[in-house]
Amino acid sequence: METILIIEDEQILAESLSKRLRDEGYTVITASNGEDGLARAHEEHPDLIVLDIMLPGLDGLSLCRIIQRDAELAHIPVIMLTARGMEVDKIIGLESGADDYIVKPVALGEFLARVRAVLRRLQKQPTIKDELTSNDLHINLIGRRAYRSGEEMHLTNKEFDLLAELMRNRGVVMSRDLILTKVWGYDCFVDKRTVDVHIRWLREKIEQDSSEPQRIITVRGVGYRFEG
Ligand code: CA
Repeated sequence: METILIIEDEQILAESLSKRLRDEGYTVITASNGEDGLARAHEEHPDLIVLDIMLPGLDGLSLCRIIQRDAELAHIPVIMLTARGMEVDKIIGLESGADDYIVKPVALGEFLARVRAVLRRLQKQPTIKDELTSNDLHINLIGRRAYRSGEEMHLTNKEFDLLAELMRNRGVVMSRDLILTKVWGYDCFVDKRTVDVHIRWLREKIEQDSSEPQRIITVRGVGYRFEG
């Protein structure tokens, strides 16, 4: 079970959040100010940090930015606890790098749901492999280069991501929705036909004859299957 670090100076709230999480089987560590929180994060390497914005000394937003720039901690997701009326765009996103936020007063049920969602999102990320190969196709995920029979192919960013996702899921039918989520992101509002357009472009680059695809197979009414 995962370890969660709660950095919150309101002791009663910290205790009720801790209890709720422990009841679910999580291991919980707490800290009551930013400096201690940072130290505990380094010692314990938690799977998730719940971070209050209003803290004595080092405040939550500053601490969140420090975490994002710390090579040892940057991969740990952060859920911010915020007071009502704070500007959400300042809390999450580019400015602090937090993954999610919860407005106080915290409803315990919602809190638990958010914690689970963030941890689940993390688990879904496949283990990072540097290279993928399928017959004469070869891609290097770190350098973002794709080769066909040793010749480098010139793929757009989205074509590259799409090909990588298909190759990772070789033989598995992938729906347009799933492809959109994986390649275009969780909160995207891109039309499903975008997937079809990119598949068509990709086929022109990787199929012998793009009118009779042998590698990216259309599964009618569902999506696509990569055959290698
Ligand atoms: Ca506080």
